[in-house]
Amino acid sequence: MRETEIVEYIRGLGSGIGDDCAVFQPRAREDLVFTTDFVLESRHFELSTHTAADVGHKALARSLSDLAAMGAEPAFCLVSLAIPPKLASRWVKEFYGGLTALATRFGVTLAGGDTARFERVVVDVMCCGRVPRGKALLRSGAQPGDAIYVTGELGASAHGLTTKRGEAWKRHLRPEPRIAAGLALRKLGVSACMDLSDGLSLDLVRLCKESRVSAELTGELPIARGASLDEALNGGEDYELLFTSRRNLPHEIAGVTVTRIGRITSQRPARIRFAGRPLKPKAFDHFAEAKS
Ligand SMILES: [Mg+2]
Repeated sequence: MRETEIVEYIRGLGSGIGDDCAVFQPRAREDLVFTTDFVLESRHFELSTHTAADVGHKALARSLSDLAAMGAEPAFCLVSLAIPPKLASRWVKEFYGGLTALATRFGVTLAGGDTARFERVVVDVMCCGRVPRGKALLRSGAQPGDAIYVTGELGASAHGLTTKRGEAWKRHLRPEPRIAAGLALRKLGVSACMDLSDGLSLDLVRLCKESRVSAELTGELPIARGASLDEALNGGEDYELLFTSRRNLPHEIAGVTVTRIGRITSQRPARIRFAGRPLKPKAFDHFAEAKS
């Protein structure tokens, strides 16, 4: 498949591709939020275990999860894809099939992108979302005394990556961005929010650093079936929402279970305690790995 054929194919998916740039008209009194995420062969997926549709789904889901974390409504995405010559045009079609199936579900327009040849598959998805002006959920709003919550269950993705079977593996291959929950949390006025991409122990430190607070976890986590405590605490790619609130929240928000897992404290910044003991972040950190 040549680049012109790929562009023709993507154009056929119903997006506004064809000009040098995509044109987007923001509405009055809204902020636009932007995020971009790599999905790299051998780092985030393997061609032997992930179908092209899985890769397309995951590439968009990662960015949509960031929009969910900000309480944003998805607007459009730009998709850049590099593939090795050995991959057939069917792979490209299935990749876009997986991506656009998810995009359609969440009302995201595929507004453009780039294609290239490279020795491995490289995907970059940039997503734009909208929020009412000044209302985006941030990591920096948590205050001592706030309760800490998560959506869904933890550890499924890491567990699935180990076992490669069952519900956990499905969760790893096809993460579900918590867009509806993110919109509901914004309306509920939660104090801080982020998505769990690198594991609770590391992501909670990031939230605490932005808010200049510490946190105490009760020790009771919503651990996914089959997953271990270690996978729930340190496993990456759950794409659940981690958030804090001054007031008590219901056990279910926008159809997703919500669990209270601890509270924000005022001790030395970004110290995490779990079941009464200090918790060291052990989660996957791409930059730490690159340095070591
Ligand atoms: Mg994120």
